[in-house]
Amino acid sequence: MRILVLFTRDLRVHDHPALSAACRAGNEVEPLFVLDPRMLRVSANRSRFLVDALRDLDASLARRGARLVIRSGDPGRVAVDEALRHGCDAIHLTADVTGPARRRLASLRRGPVPVRSFPGHGVVEPGAVAPAGRPAYRVFTPYARAWFATDRRPVLRAPASVVPIPEVDHGIHPSADELPPGAPHLPAGGESEGRARLTRFLRRGPHRYGADRDDLAADATSRLSAFLRFGCLSATQVAERAETHPESRAFLRQLAWRDFFLQLVAADPALTHEDLRPERASAWRRDRVAFDAWREGCTGVRIVDAGMRQLLAEGWMPNRARLITASFLTRTMAVDWRWGAAHFAEHLVDGDPASNAGNWQWVAGTGASPRRGIAMNPDRQAARFDPDGAYRARWLDRER
Ligand code: FAD
Repeated sequence: MRILVLFTRDLRVHDHPALSAACRAGNEVEPLFVLDPRMLRVSANRSRFLVDALRDLDASLARRGARLVIRSGDPGRVAVDEALRHGCDAIHLTADVTGPARRRLASLRRGPVPVRSFPGHGVVEPGAVAPAGRPAYRVFTPYARAWFATDRRPVLRAPASVVPIPEVDHGIHPSADELPPGAPHLPAGGESEGRARLTRFLRRGPHRYGADRDDLAADATSRLSAFLRFGCLSATQVAERAETHPESRAFLRQLAWRDFFLQLVAADPALTHEDLRPERASAWRRDRVAFDAWREGCTGVRIVDAGMRQLLAEGWMPNRARLITASFLTRTMAVDWRWGAAHFAEHLVDGDPASNAGNWQWVAGTGASPRRGIAMNPDRQAARFDPDGAYRARWLDRER
């Protein structure tokens, strides 16, 4: 048989159910990634990470006997054209929850080539746990209880070999030189880098994580979010490796948050831009001047400005800084969460439609939080999570 594997944001070879199923029984495989020019324009930071991840995936496939095939255009349409041109019997891909991903799967299913979608995005796939009579949990605590109690699919090894379809040329691979410049201190992307980071994080010990994750200057979190966002790491494998360490529950709980937002968006893809609880929406101010000051890290509130400057410099912020800055925009300045989410989506290397909108709505009070949002007091947050001012000094006072 010949199988086309359409990679999307599952850019790895380890624990990849769609790839492993394709490689079984000596099948010939076309591993395809389609660069969508529209997506490349959304965020320079993420595009640079993507190019790294594609290069690394290509190298991993090459060690197994194949190359990553790169094409450009609309991923669904190009996948069908390729499959027909090379006589593929099926298209494999990893299921995803966003509106565009679901529309792509639906249109592939209407096409002439049989399509199989596989799990591989969450630790617990959307819909695997659900409250009676509803498609998704709207409150985190009962979701987390069910999440921790659920059996997971087994983690898969990387295929030992990938047999290519001989006549397929691997196309023109993108180079970072063709992309607009990103933030000055971006992480390198790709599965190899993600696996190395995971090992370093676990060696340091996830037990420290519970106590230090909100300490802004400590940098005690895993920084795996972009690798999970692009599927350079399998969330299931991250969870499996983490739980062999004592006291990893606080860390696992964060992976459950990720799945929580995925299952909400799976149940209603509009949540990436519409309120989950519209009855709680505020009368947002359309204050461009205040918004620009927030974006540039020039509000005059040092803890907020430090977070926003870190975002511009690294394309990343720790969760506590995201909470403080998002609360300041929506609760203190009363600016629509969608404006803030769009700015984050442009800059965050880990920018993910479900986690971004889900968290913004949680802070703004229109989302999954059980209460109406209350403004965080930036002074109190700074005193508690940056007591000696090291984080503020790092992002505001140093020469850059
Ligand atoms: P760790 O603390 O090491 O956590 C491990 C993993 O758990 C993360 O890599 C991430 O995949 C997941 N995770 C942790 N916290 C959350 C959370 N609150 N919600 C969902 N998943 C979580 N995360 C994104 O991945 N993409 C986004 O676009 C995004 N936007 C956010 C916007 C706002 C306003 C807020 C408050 C949070 C947002 N988060 C987002 C969640 C969280 O801030 C980041 O996942 C986390 O800071 C990433 O750093 P880390 O990998 O070191 O996380």
